Amino acid sequence: MHRLSSHYLYLSRVGLECSIMGNMNEPIITRFAPSPTGTLHLGGARTALFCYLFARRHNGKFILRIEDTDKERSKQEHTDEILAALKWLGLQWDGEPEYQSHRIDLYKQAAHKLLERNLAYRCTCTVGELDAMREAQKQRGKNPKYDGRHRESNLGKDTQKFVIRFKNPLDGDVNFTDLVQGEVKVSNSELDDMVIMREDGSPTYNFCAVVDDMDMGITHIIRGDDHLRNSLRQCNLYDAFGVKRPHFAHLPLILNAKGGRLSKREGSYNILDYKARGILPQSLCSYMARLGWSHGDQEIFTMKELTELFDLAAVQKSPAQYDETKMLWVNRDYIMSQSNLELAPVMFPMLRAKLPQEMADKPSNLEAIIGLHKERCDDLNTLTDEIIFYYEAPEYAKEEVAKIITAENLPAVKQLRAKLDLLEPTDWNALAIKAIIKELLAQDAKLKFPDIAMPLRLAITGTTSSASIDKVAELLGKEETLKRLDLLLEEKL
Ligand code: GLU
Repeated sequence: MHRLSSHYLYLSRVGLECSIMGNMNEPIITRFAPSPTGTLHLGGARTALFCYLFARRHNGKFILRIEDTDKERSKQEHTDEILAALKWLGLQWDGEPEYQSHRIDLYKQAAHKLLERNLAYRCTCTVGELDAMREAQKQRGKNPKYDGRHRESNLGKDTQKFVIRFKNPLDGDVNFTDLVQGEVKVSNSELDDMVIMREDGSPTYNFCAVVDDMDMGITHIIRGDDHLRNSLRQCNLYDAFGVKRPHFAHLPLILNAKGGRLSKREGSYNILDYKARGILPQSLCSYMARLGWSHGDQEIFTMKELTELFDLAAVQKSPAQYDETKMLWVNRDYIMSQSNLELAPVMFPMLRAKLPQEMADKPSNLEAIIGLHKERCDDLNTLTDEIIFYYEAPEYAKEEVAKIITAENLPAVKQLRAKLDLLEPTDWNALAIKAIIKELLAQDAKLKFPDIAMPLRLAITGTTSSASIDKVAELLGKEETLKRLDLLLEEKL
């Protein structure tokens, strides 16, 4: 059973001329309507975010509608990914997702209403005929479009192989005031009679979108400005149904770093990839909000702030530009502002995925480790790589050891090992470890801090750059630190 809203029932009961008057206090209802022909990308996610924020700001409803009427290109796995990505971003829709593929009868009924009212008609033009028509128009220097040749043919029910076309008004303009773009209009002479039902009985995008938006009582259609022309066509459909048009807000394009269009094919903008990279959903939402919208010069927002401040009037018309560095900067800020306790459960599965099975027990000490290392990373994936050495002994090249331990500092490194061993486990802390290093330096004026710290660092982390090594050694623990120092010295000897 389809859920028919009062709008649609009203329409079915009293016919198409009725006009549903807008109510100043009407609750706001927005929708995000992705086609599951690919995963969710930055552009779509930004649209979803704005629809969500606008609805939440006004205590309205945010509907998720999966536009899956294209059987060939729609895939369940894409739907699953879109739902997962929206959930991860925290853009929770109201009620159950609606699927257009479950609503085909509704579109059929609506098309028949238009046919009955002589606002749509059957057309039997073949592909060949349409091609020839367009070719001839081009030859005459005209823009190719369907010429309306069956508009008045009155082809009846018994017609074989037909599409249903909408009778677009022939005269005048169609226009509306877009909440972002301002006045938008096109002359009806530029629009042809679009197909609303294909030969196989499947409905087309513009038609389903209008029938659904009416049926679901959508008050604000927020989507990318690539849909502007569709919206103009859709306005004529609303008028034909005698239904008050919703408000439209067309969001500016997002350009990539090179100033080109963000394309769905650019895999790097896939939302679930941001998740895998360890971008926090809150920071991505904060960053996406600034792709076209602003509030003074504030750059970073919490979700709560966004739902309180978001306003369509502050959305700009001109394209926004994606800036990876800035996105990472926002993410770093978010990482720093989250407590280690909050970050640990996010990091835990990422860490496990990188560790061999037998090591993948709950990594211990994780919160303290995150606390020491998080300021060094822009994303949690890098942070995972940065701290993995705590859970799995690192590998390093022999040549590296040869560079770092020379005849000059070898005795000091051996002494370091011996002195660390003498520390009581209860005294094992950064301060005590640092004191030992200082003591060794004081004994030999030729030695500098890195002569002792670097070998320790290489032994523990496998790299020559890390957070403060005394603190790292404290967190790694006495036993493991000594074990790793021994391994390093073995390499040397
Ligand atoms: N399914 C359309 C798309 O993904 C939705 C457009 C709309 O919001 O109406 O582009």
